[in-house]
Amino acid sequence: MIHLLTRLPAGARVLDLGAASGSFPNPRPDVCVVRLDLEFASAPASGCSVRADAAHLPFADRAFDLVVSSHSLEHFVALDAVLREIGRVAKPGAGLYVAVPDAGTLTDRIYRWIGRGGGHVNAFRNPAEVIALVERSTGLPHRSTRDLYASLTFLNAHNTRGWPRRKIYLFANGDERFLAVLFWTLRTLDRVFATGLSRYGWEFHFGSATPVEASHPWVNVCVRCGAGHSAAYLRESATHWRRFGPIESYHCPACGGFNLFSRERRA
Ligand SMILES: [Zn+2]
Repeated sequence: MIHLLTRLPAGARVLDLGAASGSFPNPRPDVCVVRLDLEFASAPASGCSVRADAAHLPFADRAFDLVVSSHSLEHFVALDAVLREIGRVAKPGAGLYVAVPDAGTLTDRIYRWIGRGGGHVNAFRNPAEVIALVERSTGLPHRSTRDLYASLTFLNAHNTRGWPRRKIYLFANGDERFLAVLFWTLRTLDRVFATGLSRYGWEFHFGSATPVEASHPWVNVCVRCGAGHSAAYLRESATHWRRFGPIESYHCPACGGFNLFSRERRA
């Protein structure tokens, strides 16, 4: 999604929908990012924040160059109305980034079991269903789809979320090194047996014809902050590399969290 931001012209406007305090860091100080949500637990990371219902956006038609809905569509009760509003506030030629969980995956089932639903009111089970729904309601054409991988950061003891303690005990009380080993194991099984145990959902690009980076999915997702990184980027940027036979560990370049490195499976 960052490549969509970096290609925007100076002065462009971006809507971060259902963002809480911000669903992404803004690498472009010359771009206006509006964070919108019904409630804010903390101050937005950057830009301005608007408290409003996504089904009734308080913006003029054709106001935004890019709309970002990162893990928010699964939470909207009035989903069709929200999508129509996205289509209304998007400029001609605007981009739309959507990321949603696959309700059939192991990781989303764990999330909903621990969080008693986790606020997910819409369950998506295949990418074609999401593409058809978004295209029909927003009028923005589909451009690309890519798998997303999980790390269940909400289980990490560094991220206190008030989840039920008895369930967290099953995951070594959120111990970061346990989570790193768990996800390295799941990703290894996925790579060797082509399973989807560590897969979480999909990201989609609609609208603008911005060229999409042709890359395979980033399976290395930090177990503390949830940032996904390519293997090549990690080789350049991560710190404290250690090797234990065939297993390599590193500290996340975004947050310093402890992770085990997984090789990527070529698309
Ligand atoms: Zn991290």
